[in-house]
Amino acid sequence: MLSSYGTSVFEVMSRLAIEHRSINLGQGFPDGNGPADVRAKAALFLEDRPNQYPPMLGVPELRQAVAAHGKRFYGLEVDWQREVLVASGATEALAGCLFGLIEPGDEVVLLEPLYDSYLPIVRRAGGVPRLVRLVPPAWELPRDELAAAFSARTKLILLNSPMNPAAKLFTREELAFIAELVLRHDTYAVCDEVYEHLVFDGRAHIPLMTLPGMRERCLKIGSAGKTFALTGWKVGYVTAAAELLPPVAKAHQFITFTTAPNLQRAVAYGLAKDDAYFHSLRSELERKRDAFAQGLAAIGFDVLACEGSYFISADFRPLGFAGDDVEFCRHITTEAGVTAIPVSAFYESAAPRHFVRFAFCKEDEVLSAALERLGRHFRRN
Ligand code: PMP
Ligand code: GLN
Repeated sequence: MLSSYGTSVFEVMSRLAIEHRSINLGQGFPDGNGPADVRAKAALFLEDRPNQYPPMLGVPELRQAVAAHGKRFYGLEVDWQREVLVASGATEALAGCLFGLIEPGDEVVLLEPLYDSYLPIVRRAGGVPRLVRLVPPAWELPRDELAAAFSARTKLILLNSPMNPAAKLFTREELAFIAELVLRHDTYAVCDEVYEHLVFDGRAHIPLMTLPGMRERCLKIGSAGKTFALTGWKVGYVTAAAELLPPVAKAHQFITFTTAPNLQRAVAYGLAKDDAYFHSLRSELERKRDAFAQGLAAIGFDVLACEGSYFISADFRPLGFAGDDVEFCRHITTEAGVTAIPVSAFYESAAPRHFVRFAFCKEDEVLSAALERLGRHFRRN
């Protein structure tokens, strides 16, 4: 039952940060206001385009733009009329895919650490989760366990790459291994790729959908929230084979039915922005990651690798803190004035308990102020 779950860790930590006037590096949202031109389009379209219900699948401009984006970045041929659906954020897109595809009793393979909406929705859809865990610091894919989690009862695997909070980008070899399991067991893959443009060090994000045999079996989810640093807009999109999309649309029509039309049109404009935009999105974040990682290491944290996303995790044991990650996050919020997210929140049980996740998608001054506070606090203790 959904009522048995607590309040989302992101909300809990953000409320705590507000209460203690702490620098919030917990919940993953940038502190800028997104690209001015994209916002200007949204304002313009609010005035000069219709504001009534747009089509349930999304406005044609955005569905065309999502199809063109798939072709431009990944060489995908996408029929915008039959293979694209717009949802109110990736969260709703995920719910639509899961409610649309899962029948009671179906098994769903999921990789921990996982985003907090996955398990409640899988279960509410009647799915039976089969959890496979990746553990820090290496976050290696345990191939034997993954293979063992698939069976004749598996309906789908839910894959998040780049992965939150592991900041891991799945390699082509790992994806090929997953694709082989998907084919062998005749299943689908719901691919949460909200951080597709936030990848670093010259790496390329590879959608599972681009691997042989996967075009018909994958549902690829993107989010304007991440691609345009506008997390409050909640505009997401699903790309999937024409046979796979109808069940998702059936669910979507009963969840939100549609999404604010001016925001959809502004996102369509954004997806067609030139390469310079997408390059600077990643290079700016990469620069922030480097500076922040260096600062954490100088304080004494054991900092993990970060290949993509908004997040970097660190082991706090070298600082000599004697509690677990939840206690550590409370402690630094109330005592140092910096908020992070405990990595254990991304596991259902028996989680690693000494890693915390920081969001570095913040202004440089905010990141350096956070480092300064943490440095001062831990030097004193
Ligand atoms: N998936 C992952 C892995 C996320 O980290 C998030 C958080 N932003 C979402 C989905 C949700 O995206 P949206 O805000 O577009 O609903
Ligand atoms: N995806 C965001 C994160 O991991 C949180 C989104 C939310 O607050 N629901 O921080």
